[in-house]
Amino acid sequence: SDDVFARTITQSTTNQVHAFAADVPVQLSIVVPVYNEEEIIEETYLRIKNVMESTNESYELLFVNDGSRDGTAIRLHQICVKDQHVKIINFSRNFGHQFAISAGMEHATGDAVVVMDGDLQDPPELIITMMEKWRQGYQVVYAKRLQRKGETMFKKWTASVFYRVLHRITDVEIPVDTGDFRLVDRKVCDVLNLMEEKHRFIRGMVSWAGFRQTAVEYVRDSRQAGQTKYSAKKMLKLSMDAITSFSHFPVKLAAYIGALSLFAGLVYLFSILILYRTISSVELLTFVVFILCGCILACMGVLGGYVRRIYDEVKGRPLYLIDSLEGFITPQVNHDC
Ligand code: UDP
Ligand code: MG
Repeated sequence: SDDVFARTITQSTTNQVHAFAADVPVQLSIVVPVYNEEEIIEETYLRIKNVMESTNESYELLFVNDGSRDGTAIRLHQICVKDQHVKIINFSRNFGHQFAISAGMEHATGDAVVVMDGDLQDPPELIITMMEKWRQGYQVVYAKRLQRKGETMFKKWTASVFYRVLHRITDVEIPVDTGDFRLVDRKVCDVLNLMEEKHRFIRGMVSWAGFRQTAVEYVRDSRQAGQTKYSAKKMLKLSMDAITSFSHFPVKLAAYIGALSLFAGLVYLFSILILYRTISSVELLTFVVFILCGCILACMGVLGGYVRRIYDEVKGRPLYLIDSLEGFITPQVNHDC
């Protein structure tokens, strides 16, 4: 049948797809970025499917395979050929969680789009509550973590400090203890798709966008299988992207440090001159080398962080590259980069 034909794997370059109408619009798109999640992917799929089947919503389940090197791609393919709700975007390599979310959002057709992790830390059952809030007229429903289970003290502590620091120094109101698990309305999804920045902190971008937002609270489960795919390095990158994208505080701080050190230097110099009427050259040099060089380097580091990001924006590279698409009736390439 047409359906079976349409379900065969389509590459974004094949033209057989022109025989079909655009993807049937659905009520809800669920975007799940996955990176090396072979142990859990099947279970995640089943739980989401159960939840969706208990409702009467039309839906699509969009897995974004972020360059997994284990059996994730094969497992996803097996799921996709059996279930017409499932669509897959296979990246050409590991581009990172935020880019996988972006790809999912660009390919989603739903009137509402839910983003959730693939390790079942975000309970799919909460989607129902999110949908209710959405029906009440909210355009962004984010899930706020009351408690995080099964994560290391280090992770909990760094995350907690990070959210609070970010909250203090950013110009937009980014809710604390909130990850990327959220529902956004089509309107908000379209806005995010228009934002081309290369260093993406999607939570911040959603906050920046505004619209009617509300929270639902939940207890974050522990990961059901496998290890975290967020290395310390990836966490650091995400937090630096978040701060530089949404705050000019570090630049201001650099300027303050510079001004303060200059002031301290002058006070020091004058007090020595007044007290001793002379200053040894060694004393002077030590002071200059330690304090001023430190300040200059600190300021340069901060500026460098912003300049590097400007450079990345100017390069204008695409956010991600897709190797193949599966399960789409019409492979859409929405982004024109
Ligand atoms: N993930 C991804 N690309 C990456 C890292 C993670 O798509 O480079 C996915 C991962 O498979 C999971 C989600 O993003 O579905 C959240 O990652 P993880 O659970 O490892 O982070 P944590 O919950 O430990 O913060
Ligand atoms: Mg996780």
